[in-house]
Amino acid sequence: MLISSIFNISFINQALISLLIAFVIVFISYRLKFLTLSGSIATFFLAGIIFTLGGIKWSIPILTFFILSSLISKLRKKKNDEVELFFEKSGTRDYFQVLANGGLGGVLVILYFLYDSDFYYLLYLASLSAVCADTWATELGTWNKTKTYNILTFKEVEQGVSGGISFIGTLGAIAGTVAISFSGIYWIEMNYAFYFILIIVSGLFGSFIDSILGATIQLQKECSVCNKITERNFHCGEETKFYRGISFINNDVVNFIAGLSGTILIIILLNI
Ligand SMILES: [Zn+2]
Repeated sequence: MLISSIFNISFINQALISLLIAFVIVFISYRLKFLTLSGSIATFFLAGIIFTLGGIKWSIPILTFFILSSLISKLRKKKNDEVELFFEKSGTRDYFQVLANGGLGGVLVILYFLYDSDFYYLLYLASLSAVCADTWATELGTWNKTKTYNILTFKEVEQGVSGGISFIGTLGAIAGTVAISFSGIYWIEMNYAFYFILIIVSGLFGSFIDSILGATIQLQKECSVCNKITERNFHCGEETKFYRGISFINNDVVNFIAGLSGTILIIILLNI
């Protein structure tokens, strides 16, 4: 069945159209500086796989995440560029970031294609809900000056520091999960209230795990010039020094774990 569906003419048409759409989106994103060159290549392959194997049903949610997050990130940059000094990377996404946010979606669409089960679609929405919650929490939480607290100690921290949470950021996280819930609703055949609870709760859980990891094991550096704690390797023109955390647990690894946590929670919720 699988072999025949791959060699089916309509499948080939869908693949060609998908690759064309992926190319157009990536080209525009690159020109608008949403993506670096490596991020563009990764997005082209990832989007090509998701569009081809999942069709419009899988394309709308990831496009919702990608387009809205890129726009919010650009607008936030215009308002508050200073906070970027804390982030490991600027708003332009490279391939590590693309794979950290969407790689799990690529695996899930393949499973969906092979087993034709909507279970994988729910896992996909949960993982997107988690990465969208985390992205919007960061963007909206750093939009304006706002009080930010360490998620574990509740001590006030500087905006943009890993593991920091704020009221506005939390609203951003909720908005992100709601946006992803709506993006997939057309294809959902379960009770809508239950569906919204599943996607919102698993997304917020993933974003919560992200903050916990940010406050504990995520690699943090310290600027030797201004003594700020940052995710960056360079600050104030100097190489930063180790502050705390585990060397390979950078922001991308934390984002990937956050997405995975969202899917694990939804598996648990669906089995209760
Ligand atoms: Zn500095």
